Amino acid sequence: MAKYILALDQGTTSSRAILFDKAGTSISTAQKEFAQIFPAEGWVEHDPMTIWSTQISVATEAILKIGASWDEIAGIGITNQRETTIVWDRKTGVPIYNAIVWQCRRTAEAAQRLEKDGYSEMIRKKTGLLPDPYFSATKIQWILENVEGARARAEAGELCFGTVDTWLLWNLTAGKVHATDYSNASRTMLFNIHTLSWDEELLRLFHIPRSMLPKVHPSSHVFGYTDPKLLGASLPIGGIAGDQQAALFGQCCFETGDVKNTYGTGGFLLMNTGETPYICENGLLTTIAWGIGDKVEYALEGSVFTCGSAIQWLRDGLKILDSAQDSEYYASKVSDTGGVYVVPALTGLGAPHWDPYARGLIIGINRGTTKNHIIRATLESLAYQTADVVAMMKEATKLTVPSLKVDGGACKNNLLLSFQADLLGIPIERPASVESTALGAAYLCGLAVGIYASKEEIRANRSVERVFKTDKDDAFRKERMAKWRKAVERSLGWAVD
Ligand code: ADP
Repeated sequence: MAKYILALDQGTTSSRAILFDKAGTSISTAQKEFAQIFPAEGWVEHDPMTIWSTQISVATEAILKIGASWDEIAGIGITNQRETTIVWDRKTGVPIYNAIVWQCRRTAEAAQRLEKDGYSEMIRKKTGLLPDPYFSATKIQWILENVEGARARAEAGELCFGTVDTWLLWNLTAGKVHATDYSNASRTMLFNIHTLSWDEELLRLFHIPRSMLPKVHPSSHVFGYTDPKLLGASLPIGGIAGDQQAALFGQCCFETGDVKNTYGTGGFLLMNTGETPYICENGLLTTIAWGIGDKVEYALEGSVFTCGSAIQWLRDGLKILDSAQDSEYYASKVSDTGGVYVVPALTGLGAPHWDPYARGLIIGINRGTTKNHIIRATLESLAYQTADVVAMMKEATKLTVPSLKVDGGACKNNLLLSFQADLLGIPIERPASVESTALGAAYLCGLAVGIYASKEEIRANRSVERVFKTDKDDAFRKERMAKWRKAVERSLGWAVD
């Protein structure tokens, strides 16, 4: 009797595999880091074969570790680093170039040109995105223009494009299935999120032949079966979603207005907006959360560039911390920041300011300021930035946000989450399992292969480890947010001569 779901969590720095039981408990995990390739300033690549080999080896390891067998796996769910682009030969399965990673800026000029030539509005309306090198479209175009012979081979139907989910699916099925899910397709800048199809006008704009593109299915769907020669078993691949959308699902953000924040290196906020794709003017992205059956749900996405990495900077740059974890200890030695504000605009600011020239500042220092105040103010800055994005989401949708569900490395920090509750005035929920991303992929698969009958059954699994509540009033929030915004104003445009 199959009792586990295997989640493949293919991330930017490592491949991970987690076996979950029906209750959503992680039973076994394995993880392998792999090399980041930096061929030029601002360029980032991965070796697609290494992505595949590390992923399949951690899957095997997670199973062998607990002496389980492949027949005990009910199905496989995939979640992945989004936007990263791979092009391979349809016959041989051999990639024609390295994977161009989402962080890679090599197509910055191409993206700028789109903006200059007036395509932003059309792109935003159709895809919910902004012209940016981040998304797959300009990366595919770059490969077709720069790899010898690629364009002719693509026109002749010999090449396949895929995001990382598609690449793993192709390999798991020994080249039988070339497909993706709505959430990943919606990050390519080629997919019309309203008509749910690859967009002819965008394909023409980027000179991308339609024959390269994968078929798009709901996120909870049996995409295919693993090749028995590979694993000794034919297992259904029943769920696929991009990492942030998978985390939203894993956090059981099933209702309109539900928001999750991942406090990782950067901060990723997603709000479930149900069947309505809100298109915003303020820099939030509109994306597909997931498709289940014949229904698609949308999300608004806002990101904070410097989140946990601000704490890393205290540790590695300023060297006033030995570990990120110690930030809580030092910050709680003082009752407040003593009027100090830190704006961690270390690489510019994202929404709502979108200022690449903003730079970090520490303001409000006086003779009584200690390192503890600065550490506390840096932690608080994670919460202020989050509050700014939540405010934008509320303004854009007029939806009520009942609580904020959190995960990611810095969510272990109690002081941060207490302050987040103070600033937002809503409960902050930290789940017992902070493996939201992998769990989301497992749940999507579990729905497709019949382990769960409904989302309600999945929600019954959710266990909250701690809820952070506030005793502060609106006046406190108003005053603090006003002071924060004043500090942010002073950081804007700093790097412009
Ligand atoms: P990612 O997946 O984005 O690489 P993680 O979710 O593993 O990142 O989170 C790592 C980040 O969280 C680091 O930037 C680190 O500084 C921060 N972090 C980890 N633990 C804590 C903590 N207890 N308090 C504050 N920040 C923390």
